[in-house]
Amino acid sequence: MSHVLLIVSGVPFDFRAPPGTPRVDEIEALGQLISGALDHIAEGLGIEPGITHIVLAEDFTTEVASTDREIALQHGGSTGPPFTVERLGGLVAGKTLAHHDNHLDATVLIASGMIAWDDQAGFATGISLLAHELAHLCIGRARWASGALEGVLFPSTTGTEYARSIARTSSEEYRATVLANIVFGVVVSVSVNGGEARRMTVHDVMGDSYTDRLVGVLDEVVHPGWPDTVLDYRWGRITLGELGKRIIEGTDQVFTILGHAESHAEAGDRPRPIDACAGHRGVEIYLGPAWEQLIGAARAATPVPGTLDEVRALEDETVSQGEAAILGMWSKLGITVEERGDREWAMWVTDPER
Ligand SMILES: [Zn+2]
Repeated sequence: MSHVLLIVSGVPFDFRAPPGTPRVDEIEALGQLISGALDHIAEGLGIEPGITHIVLAEDFTTEVASTDREIALQHGGSTGPPFTVERLGGLVAGKTLAHHDNHLDATVLIASGMIAWDDQAGFATGISLLAHELAHLCIGRARWASGALEGVLFPSTTGTEYARSIARTSSEEYRATVLANIVFGVVVSVSVNGGEARRMTVHDVMGDSYTDRLVGVLDEVVHPGWPDTVLDYRWGRITLGELGKRIIEGTDQVFTILGHAESHAEAGDRPRPIDACAGHRGVEIYLGPAWEQLIGAARAATPVPGTLDEVRALEDETVSQGEAAILGMWSKLGITVEERGDREWAMWVTDPER
């Protein structure tokens, strides 16, 4: 692999692309611009400059796994669960791995093999992905510096810990795209049918695909999916552990799609995903009210507020509203979470509202 390390205004920027990647200089230059703009935000918050390794990986899954292993070895920790690119209704094409909790040293991996770099639309897709991953890094650095992660235990064990973690990660997807869309529009412009050039948006790149992805999973996963899963447990067809796993993982994945869909719709001035799917029973009873409560604070704020106190306030508000929202949604599904202290917990199950 070719390997380039450039130092821009004191911030090391480390870029690797597989041999033969088309337009590699252009990708690198845009990566630098985006990274520089986001570093500027971090600098404004008084966060020290970090190092960002950007890897365009031909074999994305293998590269993510080996980076994860490298980080675990460096810190004597253990690797996470095996990485796969399949997610509910789609594939993952970008991943940010922090080497420390402070996110100052991090590796951003982009699935280069999934992107047609030599085609204009493909090139824009790759750059918007890069902007999204770099935005995660900016948010991660600000979150850690704000102190919002003090006392937060990883990985989650109890129902409440999962609810808080899902609130944090799904709202981060929304915020990362909102932030990425701002910097993306500065570096890439578009002209439709020979018309006047304007800032390109992430919606120009992805269209309504995330809202479509949500529509695609509603029946199977959310309704009748979730209440049927609860009844499967009530009738003895699955264990309590299996029920918990399916509901927690399902909530995580559906809310992640909602985070992406909300931000892309906003960038393209399109109907909000929960409005676009308002007629669906699963949105009406479960997703709509919960998502509204979870995402309210993030929608009202800029993705990375200007002071660390404001960053902290946004993080705290999102996590506490999100916890209440998700526990409330689960209780409509007939599932009550009981915290017993010392990270012990219980789940009580009754018939779901449907
Ligand atoms: Zn993301």
